[in-house]
Amino acid sequence: MRNGILWMLHRVAPADSEHLIFGLDSSLRVSPDYLEMQIIRAKEQGARFLSIDDFLANKRDGTGRPTDVCITIDDGFKDIYDYAFPVFKRQNAPFVFYVASDFIDTGFEHCLKPEADGMQMMADVILKRDVLVLNGKKVYAGTAAEKQAAFSIFWQAFAAQKEKTPEKSGHEILRAFFPDENLDFEGYRKRYLCSWNDLKEMAKDPLCTIGSHGKTHQWLSLMKDKDALEREFTESKKRIEENIGKEIFHFSYPYGQYNNSVLACAKKYYRSAVAIRAAGKTDRRFVLTSDDAYALPRISVQENAVLPLYLGTSALRPTYTGAEYAKHLFRKVFNFERKGRKRVLTVFFLKIKFKTRKDA
Ligand SMILES: [Zn+2]
Repeated sequence: MRNGILWMLHRVAPADSEHLIFGLDSSLRVSPDYLEMQIIRAKEQGARFLSIDDFLANKRDGTGRPTDVCITIDDGFKDIYDYAFPVFKRQNAPFVFYVASDFIDTGFEHCLKPEADGMQMMADVILKRDVLVLNGKKVYAGTAAEKQAAFSIFWQAFAAQKEKTPEKSGHEILRAFFPDENLDFEGYRKRYLCSWNDLKEMAKDPLCTIGSHGKTHQWLSLMKDKDALEREFTESKKRIEENIGKEIFHFSYPYGQYNNSVLACAKKYYRSAVAIRAAGKTDRRFVLTSDDAYALPRISVQENAVLPLYLGTSALRPTYTGAEYAKHLFRKVFNFERKGRKRVLTVFFLKIKFKTRKDA
């Protein structure tokens, strides 16, 4: 029995803010207004927003409700502190913020891909140039489509370079890509990623739970080195704990990916771990439904995707089996109450048709 759902967020920033890079992050970014509207709508529909600890406890005790919502956020972007945190405070909505400890410490410098601040930096260079050069070849970036293509060319070139020379830092690689640019690595990291102070401040708020999203934000299930894999769990935990001054218990798999060794590590060091919900039965990348506290499926909150009106009950539907959803709807329609000796059956199917029965 699935009780409730976990929302997944990455970035929360207004569309016109500098955070947006020619639509590349559109699947990962929602505006603060949209986020707030979804929370309000879900509440109107009876959603109960819970911290990850309460969400898990209710699941265990069997007191969870289908409309329970746990808000989860990955990575560690600064805009979560700037824009999402005020929304959560206004709406009194608990949330769990999973951060990759290296992102906070050194940005993308030691990551395998130019993620987070590196992605932003690459995009900004491509945005202002019409032509770039990669390995002696011209890469055109005059139009929006060319810029998008150029971005993916440099992204892949970065990953290839990292594979060939793992000892090279992400900073060195970008410097080689864009030799005539004055790249401000420190400035970008500070502008786009939370500082330990931001996280410490958030962690003091009872609404906030900080969790780990690994150390270097790697595809954990592809890691061959078992010790390195274990360090993703232990070192990130240690680093986050010593900086926020609190113990942490929850993990989020980067890219939602896990296998048995990854699961074993999560179980050894954490109380829960979140994954991503599969798009359907044929989607083998992710878990479709699960009550395992170490393989919790999440749905991505996306502003520009075709979504139901709100991410409450109707968006919850795909996470149920047909029978469970029918049961949930039945409970919405027929409500049986005991008031002393009285038994009151409220039938509330179509508002207009049965409104008078509400006071029966
Ligand atoms: Zn991530």
